[in-house]
Amino acid sequence: MEDIRFCPTHGFYRGEVCSCGLKGEIVLRKDKVEKLGKFVSGLLRHFPQKFELEIDENGWVSFEELVRVVSRKYRWANRWVLKAMVYSDEKKRYEIKGEKIRARYGHSIDVKLSDMPEAEEDTLYYGTSEEEANRMLEIGIKPVNQAYVHLSTSIERSIEVATLRTNKPIILEIDAKKAREDGIRILKANDFIALAKEIPAKYIKKVHQYSSS
Ligand SMILES: [Zn+2]
Repeated sequence: MEDIRFCPTHGFYRGEVCSCGLKGEIVLRKDKVEKLGKFVSGLLRHFPQKFELEIDENGWVSFEELVRVVSRKYRWANRWVLKAMVYSDEKKRYEIKGEKIRARYGHSIDVKLSDMPEAEEDTLYYGTSEEEANRMLEIGIKPVNQAYVHLSTSIERSIEVATLRTNKPIILEIDAKKAREDGIRILKANDFIALAKEIPAKYIKKVHQYSSS
């Protein structure tokens, strides 16, 4: 986790120095970035009801409401630091539209995301362990503790994701074009992640094995 700073030309960024070389003014120290990130992602993905945060079927909540809830827990939190966290987030976890905000992915609560654009990639990827890969080739990819399966838009990303769990990732290739033609909804959460309720085995093949050594 890194500090969030503000560059007058390029806006919020993470780390010491902006891409332009300027060292901007500090907005939020890394320990607070971590606390705020955990709480906000919990609220938008897992437990909005617990804090009486009203969420619609597509996962949107009022930004003002979110600020209110978050600032009750952390007195230093306000509109400015929340926007800083969202706009400096390289993983693009959140989306702000008008007066509303939502998580783009990672939900365990049931959300329809019916206004999210469809993914246009012909091929998507899923990185996992060998054991799991073999199982998925039999029964398909289904979400575990999550509302959606998270697919990667590039092989590189899928390796990164899988490497968190295994040092010998197997990369599965998904024929997204065919799946879409057959009526399976695949959503584009951001540049790196696509979401589906489930990917049946017939659209999956095993293509790559990587060793991170
Ligand atoms: Zn800059």
